[in-house]
Amino acid sequence: MVIREFTIKTLICQSVSPVVLSKSLIINDTLMAYEMTSPNPGELAGISAKTNEIHHDKLYAGYVTKRNEITEKQKSFTDEQLSAANQIFSEWRGLKEGETFATNGMILHEVFFDILGGDGNPDGTTIKDVIMNQWGTWERFVGEFTATAMGARGWAILAFDRSDNALHIYAADSQNHGGVWGATPVLPCDVYEHGYFIDFGSDRKGYIAAFLKNVNWARVEERFTAASR
Ligand code: FE
Repeated sequence: MVIREFTIKTLICQSVSPVVLSKSLIINDTLMAYEMTSPNPGELAGISAKTNEIHHDKLYAGYVTKRNEITEKQKSFTDEQLSAANQIFSEWRGLKEGETFATNGMILHEVFFDILGGDGNPDGTTIKDVIMNQWGTWERFVGEFTATAMGARGWAILAFDRSDNALHIYAADSQNHGGVWGATPVLPCDVYEHGYFIDFGSDRKGYIAAFLKNVNWARVEERFTAASR
């Protein structure tokens, strides 16, 4: 039996980036299981260990578990079950809807947790220069990022978009709505209420400011460099 590690990044974008977004195992060339790749950052400035315990250990873990479950479930479908697929309601449609929700939930959360744990200072990074070049001032970038995070129902995502080789701040109302094909998230801010209600109540703006204070820009830089290579 041959067992080797495999990465989703390798699967979808072999030539672009060596950054590992997700891990799974290949056993005899069959995709077996996805795993969590980003550690729980623990207590952060303004964001409690309790929030991260629930967010990372239960919710992020849940997306990975469900992605595995959905992947396995699809394999078990018979030709007869496949032929029952229907856009109004069908089991296959339900799996496909859940698949994109779980997959994007897994990817966005692993980038989210990976880029936390820093001091929020971007000085000395190339991505700061790129941001300044695109947005004019750091304050303007923070203003647009904050506005997007206030306006979105799920995520504000700074992403490097292959379609124009530029950074964009995209808004996603849900994990499987609002994503842009070919864009790689480098700084996603989770604005679902589970991310902040324990620590900030309804003060989402306070949470967004705390999120930015905890960003590890060196990690964002690594992801940006890999995505834009
Ligand atoms: Fe979340």
